[in-house]
Amino acid sequence: MKVIVVGAGVLGTAVARALAVAGAEVLLLDRRGPGTGTTSTTFAWTNANRKLDPAYHRLNVAGMTEHADLARRLPGAPSYFPSGALHWANSASAPWLADNVDRLLALGYPVRWIGRDEATPITGALRIPANAVSFAHFPGEGYVLPDRLLGNLLADAGRHGATCAIGEVAAVDDGPGGVSVTLAGGEVHRADRVVLATGRWSERLAAGAGIDLPMLAGIERGSPAVGLLGYVRAPGIDLRCVVHSPTLNLRPAAGGHTVVQALDLNAAVDPADPPAPDGPLARTIARRLSALLPEPAPTPEIDLRVGFRSLPADGHTIAGFGSPRVYCLVSHSGITLGPLLGRLAAAEVVTGRGQELLDPFRPTRFAGRRRADFEVTQQATRLGEQ
Ligand SMILES: Cc1cc2nc3c(=O)[nH]c(=O)nc-3n(C[C@H](O)[C@H](O)[C@H](O)COP(=O)(O)OP(=O)(O)OC[C@H]3O[C@@H](n4cnc5c(N)ncnc54)[C@H](O)[C@@H]3O)c2cc1C
Repeated sequence: MKVIVVGAGVLGTAVARALAVAGAEVLLLDRRGPGTGTTSTTFAWTNANRKLDPAYHRLNVAGMTEHADLARRLPGAPSYFPSGALHWANSASAPWLADNVDRLLALGYPVRWIGRDEATPITGALRIPANAVSFAHFPGEGYVLPDRLLGNLLADAGRHGATCAIGEVAAVDDGPGGVSVTLAGGEVHRADRVVLATGRWSERLAAGAGIDLPMLAGIERGSPAVGLLGYVRAPGIDLRCVVHSPTLNLRPAAGGHTVVQALDLNAAVDPADPPAPDGPLARTIARRLSALLPEPAPTPEIDLRVGFRSLPADGHTIAGFGSPRVYCLVSHSGITLGPLLGRLAAAEVVTGRGQELLDPFRPTRFAGRRRADFEVTQQATRLGEQ
C-alpha cells in the first residue's frame, strides 16, 4: 500500500513512521520541512490533566502510556522524560487546584498532595515562594523534547523505507480514479491513501477535497490559539520536573535550558506585532522567573516565541477517514497524543479496521452542526490548563 502523509509535525511524522513500520510505502511531504509548524513552539508537557471530556481524558492517558512504550523501542537519544509534574497554588488558586485534584483522584489519575519540604527537591532548585499554600504532585506526567522526538521518529521512518520531501500540497483529490495530491508546482503524486496531518492549516486543504474539518481559524490577539513561550538561555536552571505555578509554568529543555510560559499573558500577545525581547511582556516573564530562582541569580536571558495551537473547533482530536481514501489527523495536545495517534491511525489506514479509542473522534461528528455550536473560545489561563 502506498500512503502519502501531508504535514511533518509530530502527528504526521508519528503516523508516517508507524505506517512504514507496518510495511506501507510512505511519502511524507511538508511545505517547509519537518517540525516547522506548531511542533516547533510547544510547551510539550505530556498529561491528561484538564481533559474534562471522559473519552478525551482516556485518550490522553493512553497517550502518556504510549510515550513510555515508544521510548523503549525508538532508537536515538532520549526524547521523552517521565519527570512528573508539580503544581502549586497560592490562596487565590488553591480552591481551583483542590477541585482539579479531587476530580482526577476520582478518575484514578496518579496525583497526591505533598508538603513544601517534599516539593522543593522534586523541582530541583527552584525557590518556592512563601505564598504557595498547596502542592500537588503528578508522578505520571512528563515532557518531551519536541525536536529530538521528531528527529528520532523521522530517522526510524527512514530506516523502515519512508521518504520525506519538501513539497507544498495545493490540492487533494479523492475521486473515482483514486486519490492523488497536487503540489504547488503542479506535480501530481498518486497513492492508495492520503493522510492529512497539516495541523492548523488543515481546514482549507480538507475543504478542497470536500471534507469539513472545522478548526479554530483566528490567530489574532485574544485567540485561544495564541501561546507565548520563553526559551531561557541563561541562567542554566537545575529543573527536574514540569512545574505549574500561579505566575509561571516551567519545563526542562535540552542542554540545561528551560522553557517558560505565563498563561495569563497570552491575551496580551499580538501576533501581528510580536513581543519585543526587551518589551513589557519579556520583562514581566524575566521578573517572574527571577523570583523563582535561588539567590543570587543573574538577570534571565529569554528568547520569546509565539506559538499557534492547532485547535479543532470543539477542542478535541479529529481522527478518521473524511472521504474513502483521505484520512484526517488533527489535534491539540499533539505532543501527548502524537505517538498513540500515529500508531492507531496507521493501523486504521493499513487494515481498514477501526480502533475503538478513536471512535469518539471521527470527522463525521461535525456533519450538519453549526460551527458556533462547539467553537472553543476559552483561553487556557489556569493551573493545569494548556
Ligand atoms: C503554546 C503551545 C503550548 C502547547 N503545549 C502543549 C503541551 O504542553 N502538551 C501537548 O501535548 N501539546 C501542546 N501543544 C499542542 C501541540 O504542540 C500540537 O498539538 C502539535 O504540535 C501539533 O502537531 P501537528 O503535527 O498536528 O501540527 P504541526 O506541527 O503544525 O505540523 C503541521 C505541518 O503541516 C505542514 N503543512 C501545512 N500545510 C501544508 C501543505 N499544504 N502542504 C504541505 N505541508 C503542509 C506545516 O508546514 C507543518 O509542518 C501546545 C501548543 C502551543 C502552541
